[in-house]
Amino acid sequence: MAMEEIRRGEMLYEGKAKQLYTCNLPDCYVMFYKDDATAFDGKKKAKISGKGALNNAISAIFFEMLQQAGVPTHHVRKLSENESLVRKVDLFPLEVIVRNLVAGSMAKRLGLQEGTPLRHPTVEFDYKSDPLGDPLVTEEQVAVLGWATEEEVDEMRRLALRVNDVLSADLLRRNVLLVDFKLEFGKDTDGQIVVADEISPDTCRFWDVQTHAKLDKDRFRRDMGGVEEAYQEMLHRLGGVLA
Ligand code: 5GP
Repeated sequence: MAMEEIRRGEMLYEGKAKQLYTCNLPDCYVMFYKDDATAFDGKKKAKISGKGALNNAISAIFFEMLQQAGVPTHHVRKLSENESLVRKVDLFPLEVIVRNLVAGSMAKRLGLQEGTPLRHPTVEFDYKSDPLGDPLVTEEQVAVLGWATEEEVDEMRRLALRVNDVLSADLLRRNVLLVDFKLEFGKDTDGQIVVADEISPDTCRFWDVQTHAKLDKDRFRRDMGGVEEAYQEMLHRLGGVLA
């Protein structure tokens, strides 16, 4: 069956790394991945040529992997180099972080060495706010402030750990450690909680299993160079190509 031609409409929202457009399908949006890179809640900015196309391709691979494993996501299909078709969802104002090893803000906050093992994966909730620097919030605060109900928090935690199981196992076969990552969740028009936003080297920490070489946005955050090459290496290890 021929797929309906998707025509992009008005831009609804522009974020730091993506734009969201209406389209001719009523319950869908077109997500456009930009080449812009930002860090530290938008304080550090640059353009990295090819990043949008790489993140779009990598995200599509991860979302398709999750869907095959029965995890609901907003992803419908990749449309072009920089665009994907996604289902309309109402996003929770939260970032859900899963950690397998200590790194990044956890290392800094607790004065721990990056790479310190954890006894089991942890799930954290951050309130999504650039001016406040996405502060960590307790699950109780999420519920009492009305950002999500206790049941919704439980479902996000369950899904986040399932995403971790599926992605960690696949990446390990590709010689990549999934150190930690950030997810965003939304509710679709049927009220189902689904994984939304993107899953890419912008939102995950990936380390080579043997060398612990960084294959993610920390190369940009920490001025290490080789950002585009690291993202290309991730796409290559995932068996993907740029369309
Ligand atoms: P950390 O809390 O250590 O800074 O981040 C933990 C994980 O979540 C990392 O993989 C990081 O890339 C991701 N992450 C946390 N906050 C954000 C954010 O605001 N934007 C993006 N793109 N990723 C984030």
